[in-house]
Order: sequence, then structure tokens, then C-alpha cells
Amino acid sequence: MLNRRNWMVGAVALPAAAQAQTAGKPKNIVISSANGLTCCDIAMSWIRSGKDTLDAVVAGVNVNELDPNDNSVGYGGLPNEEGVVELDACVMHGPTRRAGSVASIRGIKTPSKIAKLVMEETDHVMLAGEGALRFAKAMGFTEENLLTEKSRLAFLVWKRTLKDQNGHSNWSDGVDAPPGKSPKALLRLFPNVDEETLAWAHEMAVRPPTGTINCLALNEKGEMSGCTTTSGLAWKLPGRVGDSPIIGAGLYVDQEVGAAGSTGRGEENIRTAGAHTIVENMRHGMSPAEAVMDALKRVSRNYDHDLKRLDKFDINFYALRKDGAFAGGSLWSGQMRGTGFVSRQFAVNDGTGNSRLMDCAYLHERRRP
Ligand code: ASP
Repeated sequence: MLNRRNWMVGAVALPAAAQAQTAGKPKNIVISSANGLTCCDIAMSWIRSGKDTLDAVVAGVNVNELDPNDNSVGYGGLPNEEGVVELDACVMHGPTRRAGSVASIRGIKTPSKIAKLVMEETDHVMLAGEGALRFAKAMGFTEENLLTEKSRLAFLVWKRTLKDQNGHSNWSDGVDAPPGKSPKALLRLFPNVDEETLAWAHEMAVRPPTGTINCLALNEKGEMSGCTTTSGLAWKLPGRVGDSPIIGAGLYVDQEVGAAGSTGRGEENIRTAGAHTIVENMRHGMSPAEAVMDALKRVSRNYDHDLKRLDKFDINFYALRKDGAFAGGSLWSGQMRGTGFVSRQFAVNDGTGNSRLMDCAYLHERRRP
């Protein structure tokens, strides 16, 4: 059921007079997925100092891309099923109506910068795989190992969970291992790993996470830009491309209307062209919240609203209108993480102070165990 109580929407939550004032006049606003509190702070500081909105959002998401502890984006992102980190990213620049994208790029910590260079320095919109890496190197970037010790641990723990019906895994001590050695194998490989990190790695293995950061910005001149960047689905098939680098799915910006982006299961978003759908919904008069909920209903409808099947994934949308109204919405009210239930949120900075988290609207209430 659509839960109205928790709807947190920019202008919609304002009194009528304030809404009327907002409607004609753009203002400085940055929104992002929940992992973007610092990202929004940085993007807003760039916007307030008069920098371009795309430079601002890219500077913001670079923080997540370079953060080894954000395991869903850039450096430290969880790898594919062969242990190789493959990244997707795209950008859209409202003032020039241009876009750039890279898919399945390896070895570069900041794919958002490469997507921006594809937009600025080539006659193409999208580069993929080996070609994207070669382009990045031609632009002066250095190929690096994106796997951290933590993400390598998670990869090995995941490999160990892949067992046949006799409980055998090729990725654990063999049957000839000396008795008593097996449980300690990972500790031998990672002597400094603590219990908490091991528990985290186990959680990543049994509940492969999605992640990603999407960031959308508007300035007082009415200029808008956006960026989405991700390491995609953990343990994916090599070459799998999600929604994040797909213009119209992971991101869409038309500053005459607004901007939208997504995180969560990319396959579902690609099938509904979510970001484009949301912007077109706003063009036809829906508020950001209504536009987001409509896109979520389309995802739900693709499963005939079968909650059992829908329960297998999460998807979130973010929308920012040209007048500064905004909304975040999720398919589900939240998800289990470890032993706790975590509600869905998104980050906002309206230029009046630090970024804050707000609750997402949601389509379905997830049952808590
Ligand atoms: N949307 C991303 C993908 O499917 C993952 C995510 O946002 O969690 O690659």
C-alpha cells in the first residue's frame, strides 16, 4: 500500500504561500541517494560558489567513488563473479542538453569523470569495457587495482558460500586438509580481519547488495545536472551493465522540466526507463512524488503486483523539479540489514546548512520478521 504518512516531498510539504513562491523561482537544491550526505554538502558548496552544476555533482560523487568503505561505488566496490571490479556511470548537463556515459569500465576509480569526458571530448555518448578504459588512459588516467582488502575478503567469503548439495566448495580447504584447520582458513589469509568485518563479508555474500550514488542538482539560475555512478550488482556476470550508465534509466535531466535518477535493481529500472518516465510524468503535470510513485507502480505492475516476487529486490527513485520541489520514493518501506530493519531514505541539501536525510515515500510495506 502507498503510505502517505511518510511522504517527504520538497514543495509539497510547504505551506501554500511558500509553494506559490517556489513554483516560479528556481533555487539551490542538491539531492542524492542516502549514501550522499557528504556528496550533497560538497555539491552544494560548489554551487554556492558559482560553479557549474555538473562540476558540482561530479565533485560530490567523487567522494563516494574514492571512499574504500563505500562498497557500492568506485574504489572498494564489490567485484563481479571473477573478482574484478567493473564500474558504470553517466552524467547529464542540463544547460547544454548533453550526456556522457561509461559502462563496465575496469581499473579507474572515478568513472563519473570519464563519463563527463566522453560527453566533453568525444562525439559519442557511451563507451564500454576495454574501449572506455583505453579512452580514460588517453585522457591521462592511470589504471589501478580497485579491489581493497575488505572487498577481496567479501569476494572470497562469497566464493565459499557456493556449495554443491554435499556441502562441497572448491574455494575452501580440501578434504585432505589437516583436521581443525578449516574454520581458520580465512583468518590465515586475512590475519588482521576482525569479527565484525567477517560478519559483514558474510552478509554481503548471502544478501548480495546493490548500492550506487545518484546525485541531482539545481541552481538559482535554473540550471540542472545529474550523475549516477556504481559498481553495480555484487558478484554479477562479467560484462553485466545495470541501469546506472543508461541515459533515461539511471539518470535523466531536462532542465525545462526536472531531473530524476535511480538506485537499486537496475534490471527493473531498465525495463521501465524509470528516470525518463519520471521526468515525462513531471512534464505532464505530476508532482515529483506522484511521478516517482507512478514509476514504482510500473515496476510493480511488471510482476502483476505479486509481493512475493517483488520482495526479492529493491528499487529507489529520486526526482527534482525545475522549481526545487523534490521527492524520493522506494518500492519497499525498508530492508533487513543484519538483525535490524532499515527504512529507506535519501539525502537533501537546500543550501541552508548541512545535508540531511529524509524518509522516502514507498509503495509496499515490507513485513518485518
Ligand atoms: N542500480 C545499480 C545496478 O543495477 C545497483 C544499485 O543501485 O544498487 O547496477
